[in-house]
Amino acid sequence: MANLQQNYRNVLAEIAAAEAAASRPAGSVRLVAVGKTFPAADIRAVYCEGQRDFGENYIQEWYAKTDELADCPDIVWHIIGQIQSNKTRPVAERAHWVHTIDRLKTAQRLSSQRPEHMPALQVCIEVNIAAEAAKHGVKPEEAVALACEVAKLPRLKVRGLMCVAAAAADDAGLQAQFKQMQALLTQLQAAGVAADVLSMGMTADMALAVVCGATHVRIGSAIFGQRDNV
Ligand SMILES: *Cc1c(COP(=O)(O)O)cnc(C)c1O
Repeated sequence: MANLQQNYRNVLAEIAAAEAAASRPAGSVRLVAVGKTFPAADIRAVYCEGQRDFGENYIQEWYAKTDELADCPDIVWHIIGQIQSNKTRPVAERAHWVHTIDRLKTAQRLSSQRPEHMPALQVCIEVNIAAEAAKHGVKPEEAVALACEVAKLPRLKVRGLMCVAAAAADDAGLQAQFKQMQALLTQLQAAGVAADVLSMGMTADMALAVVCGATHVRIGSAIFGQRDNV
């Protein structure tokens, strides 16, 4: 537990250093702390250090955590995993962000299920930037068209694009992927969608993502520790 606080502070310092190295303003990169497989108590410990944005991959696990952390009502929940059609309702009712939209059908369900009294659900289109068969997301050349369709849905707000870079890539390869994401965001803006988010960068490739314009980095293991292989 004591480690979590130190880990968290180290990650904040690393983000600040990456911003400075990239000549970007302090505070321009938002940390999403990814707590998948870790208990609600660990999330609470990081919350008590001041963190508010938390990411989760598995809907059932996340939903249980929202109950356990109901006394922390200002947590901002980011869904960063796949959402099966039959799991859209809890997401529409309790999440603030979904980073992983890659089908219009899922977006339509989320929009129709988003309660009227809540603000629009913030969403990103997931791009399979590494073109890996095992990865989710739309092909890069399909991202702008999907985003434009999703932008028409009344209860969603398209904020930008998200990717998971190829784990095996070297720095040059990673940078090429992140730069392509940056170019896609520019295309999306030119198409008339007021998008401002690039959700990219994880524990291993965060600094490079910041150089390439990441606005949200999703960091798990550097804060919470190594995960069992799931
Ligand atoms: C698990 C996960 C992360 C965090 O990964 P770490 O390498 O632990 O920082 C970020 N994004 C997605 C989509 C993930 O599934």
